[in-house]
Amino acid sequence: MAILATPLRSVATSSKTRPVLSWQESLRRAIRDPVQLCRSLQLPPKYEQAAAQASELFGVFVPREYLDRIKIGDEKDPLLRQVLPIAEEAEIGKGFSLDPVGDADALTAPGLLHKYHSRVLLIATGACAVHCRYCFRRHFPYDQMPRGLEDWKPAIEQIKEDTAIEEVILSGGDPLMLTDQRLAELVACLDPIKHVKRLRIHTRLPIMIPSRVTDALISLLSNRHRMPVVVVHINHPAEIDVPVSMALSRLVESGILVLNQSVLLRGVNDSAEVLSTLSKRLVDLRVMPYYLHQLDRTLGTSHFEVPVKIGISIIEQMRSRLPGYAIPRFVQEKRGKLSKQVLA
Ligand SMILES: *Cc1c(COP(=O)(O)O)cnc(C)c1O
Ligand code: SF4
Repeated sequence: MAILATPLRSVATSSKTRPVLSWQESLRRAIRDPVQLCRSLQLPPKYEQAAAQASELFGVFVPREYLDRIKIGDEKDPLLRQVLPIAEEAEIGKGFSLDPVGDADALTAPGLLHKYHSRVLLIATGACAVHCRYCFRRHFPYDQMPRGLEDWKPAIEQIKEDTAIEEVILSGGDPLMLTDQRLAELVACLDPIKHVKRLRIHTRLPIMIPSRVTDALISLLSNRHRMPVVVVHINHPAEIDVPVSMALSRLVESGILVLNQSVLLRGVNDSAEVLSTLSKRLVDLRVMPYYLHQLDRTLGTSHFEVPVKIGISIIEQMRSRLPGYAIPRFVQEKRGKLSKQVLA
């Protein structure tokens, strides 16, 4: 307890001086106490009560590796805004609901979301290495999702029978919260299914805790028989520090296609300048900007919403500054549609 009570900033001031821990140890040491989050960043005391209250609905979870990238004492820090519970989360925005994109209707087997042709999404776990305050699956019924291999049988059976499914997406939560061994077991269930040509992972773990990119993970993914795609989630260029860029480079260098998706968030990345800087950093790392998502209208997130027309104008400004391949597609998910809707 004494260790937890020591402000870590007084010991280590940047990720360069923090010893590299195993990713599981990093998870254990992550900040889960809203008051501790406020104090370790020296925020004004008024934030503490609001954070404690808002975290009753959706808890705080911030790895220290991410905390290191937040400026001390800066209430407006774009990385802080993504993880700090604030009073606005109690607002009931018009049109905001528990399941805005119809995920519940798309569950065709336990843990299996089948919305789009040729690809399915598996909710590999409900856990994440961070609790993003704007998360569209904040209210998802994760406790009803599969846990062991036995629970996955109906989903695997469905994938086996539907030869139109060419791609399996592991999502969650964050699929990289599973140990390499559990991940390997799940992926092995797909091995006999020859029509599945691509394996995609949607993850924020390489950004939150870059030591998650282990050798075992890389060899698991760079399987010659199945094209591996990793879609990471970075919203702001300040999320990319040296360990993150090294983790991304290791993925890229092992032949994995690495893409990035961001969510357009008020006060985080709602400017052409921030998103252009992000795109340039990504391209330099050979990570391709894939999607910029319009916020899904999930209850408790209305303060993050940016009007669609501002998003379109941001993309237009980016287009006038950057090569075409550095421009993410600005998309919105609409209930019942056959793909994400391209806005710009
Ligand atoms: C976003 C999403 C996908 C992937 O869509 P792409 O456009 O291929 O990236 C697949 N399934 C579900 C349920 C999704 O929400
Ligand atoms: S990592 Fe993704 S699923 Fe997890 S809290 Fe953040 S946005 Fe939600």
